[in-house]
Amino acid sequence: MAILLTGGAGYIGSHTCIELTKEGYDVIIVDDFSNSSPKVMERVKEITGKDIPLYRADVADKEALSRIFAENDIETVIHFAGFKAVGESCRLPVKYYRNNIDSTLTLLEVMAEYGVHNIVFSSSATVYGVPKKVPLTEDMDTGCTNPYGWTKLMIEQILRDTATADKEFSAVLLRYFNPIGAHESGRIGELPNGIPNNLMPYITQVAVGKLKQLSVFGNDYPTHDGTGVRDFIHVVDLAKGHVAAVKYVASNKGAEVFNLGTGIGNSVLVIVKAFKDANGIEIPYVIAERRSGDVAECYADPKKAFEGLGWKAEKNLTDMCKDSWRWQSSNPDGY
Ligand code: UDP
Repeated sequence: MAILLTGGAGYIGSHTCIELTKEGYDVIIVDDFSNSSPKVMERVKEITGKDIPLYRADVADKEALSRIFAENDIETVIHFAGFKAVGESCRLPVKYYRNNIDSTLTLLEVMAEYGVHNIVFSSSATVYGVPKKVPLTEDMDTGCTNPYGWTKLMIEQILRDTATADKEFSAVLLRYFNPIGAHESGRIGELPNGIPNNLMPYITQVAVGKLKQLSVFGNDYPTHDGTGVRDFIHVVDLAKGHVAAVKYVASNKGAEVFNLGTGIGNSVLVIVKAFKDANGIEIPYVIAERRSGDVAECYADPKKAFEGLGWKAEKNLTDMCKDSWRWQSSNPDGY
């Protein structure tokens, strides 16, 4: 019995691949490498000592996907594949709806054809929209500020409806907060396309000399230092959350949602300071305008994941900053 990871060569997928393999699971990957490199899998092999079966295909390609299900004994799917750039989704909403929704529907059709009932889905804290209060619990209102977020919320709904209709079906919807960090070997990590949108890759590219300075988007939010507060979580902790979710879907029916966060909010300026303290590198920054669509504060209540999945984040901000920097400094040009 194997676990199929769609988009398994991506940032979160590749770290999950390692954690699952460590726990003795057989893993299969399908990825079209539209936003990742085949070299990732060589690095995963270095770390795990295992050749992970890899299919190069688009999840929306039903024929290719059916072949993967026909050739393997798949027990559970972790569905990472999808476009994820918030800004691009605002410019090209149809591209995002077409890709993210279509590929999920195709996946669900093929799973049904092959009698596979278990799925773990990569959702996002962005589905909470503008939080009315923090920390966020899973029962709070949802609503998005961009098409990318809407695709996540729509897919959550599709999976809930599927679970209602099919009593054999089991779905875990994982709402990720802000994953940063990298595998402690420094061999795999996040590789943004072009100039990074996210905070930590931007900081590490300033540190390595690729970018001049960080723009801090707003210092007049109602937070302790005026800068945005987020729940930064180490990607290896997040990956371990998927292992816990794989165990959960194997023994529970229905659809259940869990936050994957630390429960701790840290501001942009706290991250800049933590990076300096962890790595001895000062990050030059300027205060810039707020970024449109950003919220002041967003952090998780991680209690439900602890009670339901037996999982909690264990790594701290120093680990996150050190591991992000180890990856960036030893791979300044990526893979
Ligand atoms: N941020 C920033 N400068 C950047 C990138 C991000 O000040 O170059 C801030 C952003 O406004 C937010 C926090 O860092 O308050 C986290 O942003 P990121 O894009 O990493 O994640 P998001 O929470 O938006 O998904």
